[in-house]
Amino acid sequence: MIQADWMEEEKMSLKAKTRVLCTGGVGYIGSHTVVQLLQKGYDVCVLDFFGEGSFGLEVLRRIELLTKKKVSYFAVDLKDYQATLLALQHERIDAVIHFAGFKSVSESISQSLEYYQNNVIGTINLLLVMREIGCKRIVFSSTAAVYKPIERCLTEADPVGPSNPYGQSKLMIEKILSDLHTSEPSWCVCVLRYFNPVGAHPSGLLGESSKFPNNLLPTIQQVAIGAREKLVIHGSDWDTPDGTGIRDYLDINELADGHVHALHALMQRTDGEGCCKIYNLGTGKGISVKQMIKSFEEATGRNIPFTQGPRRPGDLAKVVADPSLANLELNWTASTPIRTSCETAWKWQCSNPNGYL
Ligand code: UDP
Repeated sequence: MIQADWMEEEKMSLKAKTRVLCTGGVGYIGSHTVVQLLQKGYDVCVLDFFGEGSFGLEVLRRIELLTKKKVSYFAVDLKDYQATLLALQHERIDAVIHFAGFKSVSESISQSLEYYQNNVIGTINLLLVMREIGCKRIVFSSTAAVYKPIERCLTEADPVGPSNPYGQSKLMIEKILSDLHTSEPSWCVCVLRYFNPVGAHPSGLLGESSKFPNNLLPTIQQVAIGAREKLVIHGSDWDTPDGTGIRDYLDINELADGHVHALHALMQRTDGEGCCKIYNLGTGKGISVKQMIKSFEEATGRNIPFTQGPRRPGDLAKVVADPSLANLELNWTASTPIRTSCETAWKWQCSNPNGYL
């Protein structure tokens, strides 16, 4: 693996390094991807709005510590077209990986307009600036939340129909990208629909930093450190083998690797040879809430007390990917055992009890 990375980097240094802009590159998925891109020899720059109280600069410092490489960055809000253009107009950017966006389902319900403004308008501005500077390759962070609820493994051809503004904003962007490719076929677009990312960087230096998490594994971690008394299981009467909800949890490091594979596929295309592809990134295997509690307990030796609560509004019994298209066309697979993701998540939690702050 290390040898392969080194060879890839050598190959790349023979020609000009591919320069990749990662918007939202200091977020949970972005930061893990930036590390892998740097390790594979890409030249990476980050664009992020580094909002008030943001820990972005600390994330960059840690990325540099891990990779021994420099990352340049632009502190820009994509909602501001002029500022984005000003920042990027003299830059050589070969491709963009677009992570930046608000991502809380519950917040998107109470603040729908802000979600549409930030996610959709921010992306339109980014695309306009990309066109202006002659960069037409983009990998876009989408989500399994775009699908219409169906309780079997989801393929990319399954019907879409998001049940919240977050998923809707992502679907709108997918449509914008697809229409852009139709009107300007030289654009290379790759949409990645993520299932449930979990875990952290094995070093314990990077992970998910959220003060009030409501996703399953971060909530279990809060119980493990004593910040919450018990885990509330949202529904134990689902039509699943143990009655609790099933999701497709994929390790963050493999999810990051999926972006490297997607980027590689786009970079293989000659200028003008456009495409518009959509891939599910998931493991294809479902894990229930009770199975997750057990894996975490086994991985960490901690006891997780839980109580059975009512179903959470909008929840589904089962959301699992059919990732065969990404396996086949991107040569990418996720197979890290859930126990490993629990171990890295716990290491991150113990070394950073207050996140990056
Ligand atoms: N879940 C739970 N208690 C929690 C958080 C989540 O029982 O405190 C369940 C939730 O109902 C779902 C699964 O864990 O069945 C994954 O939830 P998460 O919010 O992590 O992901 P999503 O539902 O958005 O896919």
